[in-house]
Amino acid sequence: MAKGLLEKDFLGKKAVVIGGSISGMLAARVLSDFFEEVIIIEKDKMSNQHIPRIGVTQGSHGHALLKSGEEILNDLFPGIIDELIEAGSVKSDFAGGLAWNHHGSWKLKYHAGMSIIQQSRPFLEWHIQRRLKQIPNVSYMYETKAKKLLVNNDQTQINGIVIQKEGEMDLEIQTDLVVDAAGAGSQTSSWLKQLGYQAPAKTEVRVNLFYASRIYRSLSSKNKDWSNLLVYPNPPSQNRGGSISPIENKRWMVTLLGYGVDSPPNSGEEFLAYTKCLGKPDIYEAIEEGQPETDVTVYRFPALRRFHYEKLSPFPDRLIVMGDAFCRMDPVFGQGMSISALEAIALKKELQRAVHKNGLAQISIHTHRSFSKIIDIPWLVALTEDFRFTQTVGKKTIWTAVSDVVCKKGHFSLRNE
Ligand SMILES: Cc1cc2nc3c(=O)[nH]c(=O)nc-3n(C[C@H](O)[C@H](O)[C@H](O)COP(=O)(O)OP(=O)(O)OC[C@H]3O[C@@H](n4cnc5c(N)ncnc54)[C@H](O)[C@@H]3O)c2cc1C
Repeated sequence: MAKGLLEKDFLGKKAVVIGGSISGMLAARVLSDFFEEVIIIEKDKMSNQHIPRIGVTQGSHGHALLKSGEEILNDLFPGIIDELIEAGSVKSDFAGGLAWNHHGSWKLKYHAGMSIIQQSRPFLEWHIQRRLKQIPNVSYMYETKAKKLLVNNDQTQINGIVIQKEGEMDLEIQTDLVVDAAGAGSQTSSWLKQLGYQAPAKTEVRVNLFYASRIYRSLSSKNKDWSNLLVYPNPPSQNRGGSISPIENKRWMVTLLGYGVDSPPNSGEEFLAYTKCLGKPDIYEAIEEGQPETDVTVYRFPALRRFHYEKLSPFPDRLIVMGDAFCRMDPVFGQGMSISALEAIALKKELQRAVHKNGLAQISIHTHRSFSKIIDIPWLVALTEDFRFTQTVGKKTIWTAVSDVVCKKGHFSLRNE
């Protein structure tokens, strides 16, 4: 039985989570305290290795876990941060060890006494999965796709899901709650239309960003006075940047990026050549004599996208959309996993409220409103930065417009114009 709850306190028999990535796993951990059984539907194969997988292609690229995400992870899986460090994650002095070139100038390094843990994304995911699998009422269905949602007769609540395991027939599962954590591949919007609902409103801001990453076994043997290096672009004149971060097994993740750059570097030569055009030579100098371990992998990120499920009415109850399926942030700001963690805690609060009040009625609307509030500030931060690039296309919020005016008047030096 789940910790801290009597059997009568369970909110339902079965909760299903679509997607076994970061937000799906954190949701499943929370749901395991409130449902007798939690099933994760994951289209990818089970993997026993820390390697990128097809369903999470961004896993080949630098992934920073912000402090809020780290703390929540440790609350949900006590001791996991120590386990990660013991297994190879690198504990870094975040502010003190970071050489950060921002809008053309170097930030002062500052020993704030705050550490973060650094590792590759598949390594982090694998360790969370290992802990999740120790929870008896959580199970995985791998190589299985969620195909559509089922609704009750009066169309008020989702009561099931259709899944298909590779090579097998469709299967219907009756559910008490469905959480869609399928990331960018989420189909809830079109599934709702099939069921006769409207699609949610959507805000999109096109940035045409690319990431190109490569793992290095060693860097150039020159002296360096940083543990992390970040060269952020200097818009509008300079739209290229990159970072170097330590990851497990004494390796380095080198990630290059460009906004509105049509031809990302694909080969080792192009990768090195690109580092010469970042406005600062530091990344080039760090890798020119380094030893690469992997080929270059490219990821294209066309747009930030936010679905407004919190505003969609009517909306069937007992369906929750979270993580990247709810909102995809610009990855440069390293917010996605920590937002998933904050949403998992918001989901937990809504489920606790449901235990003490009227059960699962209205769970969807309350939870989506909480998620939307969580997203407002990170979304504003990302948009304020992204609209400095002249090629960014989308509707500015009132706050991004205000910060633009303030910058242009010169009250606040956000632009180097
Ligand atoms: C290039 C890049 C760099 C990033 N860097 C950072 C960073 O530094 N820090 C940070 O915090 N975040 C970063 N992010 C964001 C981060 O990757 C996501 O926010 C985080 O993974 C949470 O996403 P998710 O779990 O919602 O979805 P995903 O991680 O996209 O996972 C979705 C899961 O659903 C599965 N799935 C999809 N459809 C179905 C279906 N029909 N049936 C069954 N399973 C399905 C997929 O196989 C996958 O496992 C980055 C993103 C990108 C693109």
